[in-house]
Amino acid sequence: MSGVPNYFLAVCDILGFSDFVRTQALEDVIAHGIGGLRQALYFSMYSKVPPKSLEWSEFQNHGQVGVAWFSDTILLYTKLDTDEAIRSLLSVVSSLIFFMMGRHTRLRAGLAYGPAYVDSPNAMFVGQPIIDAARLEEQQQWSGGALHESACERVRRVAGATPPMDWWVIPYAVPLKGGETLHTLAVNWNEGIHAPDWRLRWSSTSTDPSANDWAERPDVCHKFVQTRRFHEIFCRDCNPRR
Ligand SMILES: [Zn+2]
Repeated sequence: MSGVPNYFLAVCDILGFSDFVRTQALEDVIAHGIGGLRQALYFSMYSKVPPKSLEWSEFQNHGQVGVAWFSDTILLYTKLDTDEAIRSLLSVVSSLIFFMMGRHTRLRAGLAYGPAYVDSPNAMFVGQPIIDAARLEEQQQWSGGALHESACERVRRVAGATPPMDWWVIPYAVPLKGGETLHTLAVNWNEGIHAPDWRLRWSSTSTDPSANDWAERPDVCHKFVQTRRFHEIFCRDCNPRR
């Protein structure tokens, strides 16, 4: 694959999106679901409030990170194979996951690294890292993000086994479907600043899943518990001992 540039990329999925589309009016999906996510993505990329009328072209101007979007899947990729671009991408992914937690929209990301063909104007994205990232995204039993071995290797090469905080990753046994875990680097979305009394809530009306929720949607409840555990272990606002 000589001559083909390497990309560090993240495949991000909106959990429960098919149910959301099936049960809500499409106008609400666009205005509240996708609209809120677009605003959060803009804020995560540029660290400023998005303009009132947010055009898609606004997302293409970032110096380090490119974006593509299809239904419930967002692809973020480095525009250059530099450490700075990779840290920037990891910062965007962690910020986006954190913001959407507060809005009770759960995202899940798989990240990988390697040679790929990226032709954004023609919407062509092909390569092993995209497949690796998409598979790892789908395997995780939580809301969060995990790095494929290819991405871990790229980060550890320059940042060591336990990268400093500005790499936005942390070693963790990521929960997978079927009760397995994957010892890897997880996206550390816990650094989003929040009040000490903020809690990762099940929904806008309830702190924890009810008995009914456990009976009807045990899989979603289980993912929520794993997600909150990760946050409570690593969040320095919730856990001042850290
Ligand atoms: Zn916290």
